[in-house]
Amino acid sequence: MFMIKKILCGIVLFSVFILCGCGKKEELPDKLTVIKERGHLIVGVKYDTKPFGFVDRDNVLKGYDIDLARIIAKKILGNEKQVVFKQVYPHNRIAKLNSGEVDLLIATMTITPQREEVVRFSKPYYTVGQAIMVPQGSPVETIANLNGKRTIVVLGTTGEKNLRRFAPEARVLGYKTYEEGFRALREKRAMAFTTDDTILSGFAQDYPEFVILPQRYTKEGYAIAMKKSHSTDSLAIDIDNILEELTRDGTLVALKHKWVPSESDKFILSKRMKRQIK
Ligand code: GLU
Repeated sequence: MFMIKKILCGIVLFSVFILCGCGKKEELPDKLTVIKERGHLIVGVKYDTKPFGFVDRDNVLKGYDIDLARIIAKKILGNEKQVVFKQVYPHNRIAKLNSGEVDLLIATMTITPQREEVVRFSKPYYTVGQAIMVPQGSPVETIANLNGKRTIVVLGTTGEKNLRRFAPEARVLGYKTYEEGFRALREKRAMAFTTDDTILSGFAQDYPEFVILPQRYTKEGYAIAMKKSHSTDSLAIDIDNILEELTRDGTLVALKHKWVPSESDKFILSKRMKRQIK
């Protein structure tokens, strides 16, 4: 009897708690409305990841992801200049998104089931594969050859995770930025550097003494990340619609041609596309 009373009492107290709204999480304002009222988008991008987000010799931030952010700002706010960029790294980008420091991440970010637990992803806008970069003439031919060898990764990336999976005996050298990782490779602190083929191609273009091995170990989709919350429901719909439109009208292929030409040799840029992406 005493037990039943106790349970009933618990149910009553719980109902009062719910009715009073005491258990309610704080509702965040609708993100799309916040962005429109603020008048600009705040986008987390890479500054060290050529050709997606990098600072050139004249100190200008540019790349595929930067162009995509400007196109999205134009679609949402009517002006491609209404965007503020903030530098993010793989190890801190999710924290910056979830703290509200940035509205979106457009940062060479692969969709993974683990990340889907903590952020909301758009549809994919670009496909990459994990590759290995080595100095010309290296004896390394496959990822399995990296077992027992020092290999560079950038911390918090899918490259780090996959290396530990595909070459569990590799001696992993982790860096926070791509610049530091590539410097370590040039200084011969490791046998190889592994990450997305597109990112490695940015270095290989500038430093022909390094080559990217032909094999790819994954197929990964880059997507735009938003906070995982009802506050981004309408923003996420808009972003997906925009990406669909950019796929349909050829803008995404044009961006690929502009920034990663080795992957789109056969693509002929129409005049309209040239105008759209400048
Ligand atoms: N796309 C990979 C990832 O999301 C590597 C590049 C990066 O992190 O920026 O982990």
